[in-house]
Amino acid sequence: MIKLYKFLKQYVFHIVIVVLLVFLQVILNLYLPTLMSDIVDKGIVNQDIGYIYKVGGIMLLVTAGGVIAAVIATFLSSKSAVGLGKILRDKIFTKVEGFSLREFDKMGTATLITRTTNDVTQIQQVTVMLLSIMIFAPLTCIGGIVMAINEDKTLSLILVVVLPIITGIIALLLSKGLPLFKSMQIKLDKLNLILRENLTGIRVIRAFNRIDKEKGRFDDASSDLMNVTIRVNKLMAVMMPTMMFIMNITSVAIIWFGGIQIDNGKMQVGSLMAFIQYAMQILFSLMMLTLLFIFIPRAQASATRINEVLDMEIEIVDPVKAITADNKKGYVEFKNVYFNYNGSEQPALSDINFKANPGEITAIIGGTGSGKSTLANLIPRFYDVESGSVLVDGVDVREMKQEDLRAKIGLVPQKIILFSGTIEENIKYGKEDAVFDEIKHAADVAQATDFISEMENGFDHYIAGGGTNISGGQKQRISIARALVRKPEIYIFDDSFSALDFKTDAKLRASLKSEISNSTVFIITQRVATIMNADRIIVLDEGRIMGIGKHKELMETCKVYREIVASQLSEEELV
Ligand code: ADP
Ligand code: MG
Repeated sequence: MIKLYKFLKQYVFHIVIVVLLVFLQVILNLYLPTLMSDIVDKGIVNQDIGYIYKVGGIMLLVTAGGVIAAVIATFLSSKSAVGLGKILRDKIFTKVEGFSLREFDKMGTATLITRTTNDVTQIQQVTVMLLSIMIFAPLTCIGGIVMAINEDKTLSLILVVVLPIITGIIALLLSKGLPLFKSMQIKLDKLNLILRENLTGIRVIRAFNRIDKEKGRFDDASSDLMNVTIRVNKLMAVMMPTMMFIMNITSVAIIWFGGIQIDNGKMQVGSLMAFIQYAMQILFSLMMLTLLFIFIPRAQASATRINEVLDMEIEIVDPVKAITADNKKGYVEFKNVYFNYNGSEQPALSDINFKANPGEITAIIGGTGSGKSTLANLIPRFYDVESGSVLVDGVDVREMKQEDLRAKIGLVPQKIILFSGTIEENIKYGKEDAVFDEIKHAADVAQATDFISEMENGFDHYIAGGGTNISGGQKQRISIARALVRKPEIYIFDDSFSALDFKTDAKLRASLKSEISNSTVFIITQRVATIMNADRIIVLDEGRIMGIGKHKELMETCKVYREIVASQLSEEELV
């Protein structure tokens, strides 16, 4: 957690003021009982009304001063804590933006979200507490003890008895409470997980009639959390009255023994009252410290999770000296490429060699899991190769700036992602300064204009939450238009026509032909019909190239290809 507090640097000034104000507050608080004892012992006993008014006035001023100091201190410490929260969120977000897909594979998106929101909030809350309690409580405790001894040494013996008892009780509560708090956090995480699965998987759950089962699972997690929370609260419920009991017993003892002292003429009434107040201040400050002990471990856990993100080593970074490749346009070459996903034994790609040139269509075909998407992901450098190299325009992608590399590429990913916003905005995502004519043209080529114009608001049709309100084929076409509007050197269509009917598929390919005739085009698909005319067909199986060539050549030389073609033809014949 301390590591995170280096980000508080810009609030140092605030914090110094907070510390000073808290000091002031403590001193004023400690001064009040002395004034009161003066009023009682000198003013009331001597029936000196003037004195009472005078000291009473000072007391009012002191109280007002304390209140003002407290308000300003709270304001400034909250400001620093919230500021820290914002800085942390920015840092995490920036860091995560730089993650390569490998880091996402490691972390998972759900936990990244909780780390950015919930964990930062925990840190924020505990920071406010730290800034107020961490100085206030020990200072009050020590100051209180000094003042109490100053007031009456004999009565202070009571504190010698009470303080160890109360410290013991606090220690006991903490040792029982902290594990409970930890387990509460774990149960909450579990509940979150189940809830998330249920919300995202609701269609599957309904379709397979698993609602009751899921309800049970949720119930279990929920009652688990409830039980732990109840135990925590029971503990808290015991703690409060116990503390109160000890406080009141202490007061009674002080009054009892103080009474004897007064009887013997060794103490004055005002002193006794002041002494009681000091004792209360000491005990209260101890209780406040207990709160810190409860909240700090929780925040510590959050801090660890945040640091995990901030310390993550990003695998894909820009080279120190980037090479720009401008004069050539869209040449792609794979040289002896091997690639492995985290922790998988079998390489996802082995010994991949081929060249793709502008004006050519390179098709990649193969069964599911054969490594087609993996291959495509290496071109924009979403992952780095294990060995070998991927060259774009003659330069290894690891030697280019990522931004320059990706500016050359129009990617239509297999898993289509649209953003909340209008259709126009989504297409514009490919090119920020695109004018409407460009957008319209891209939509025309992508065969999207027909369905867009049938929508109530046309291009202003609002796409909700990732595109839930349009069909899969419509999403694919918008995603294609988004890549087209960019006019990149290299197109990658990863299974981008799979949700289209054969007629639209054919029409789209015909219109694409003239549109992207000067670019290097990769088409990944399972449909032979889509790629029969490609300049080069790469047949993949289990991450290896089984054959490269035109349709006719492959029919003669590549068994895997023949099998794929045969299976699809027979399917169509059956229909
Ligand atoms: P295709 O696109 O041809 O269907 P992929 O390239 O998506 O196949 O996957 C190739 C292989 O790599 C599969 O065995 C798959 O399980 C594995 N794979 C894909 N993505 C990941 C990932 N993010 N982490 C680990 N393994 C993966
Ligand atoms: Mg794929």
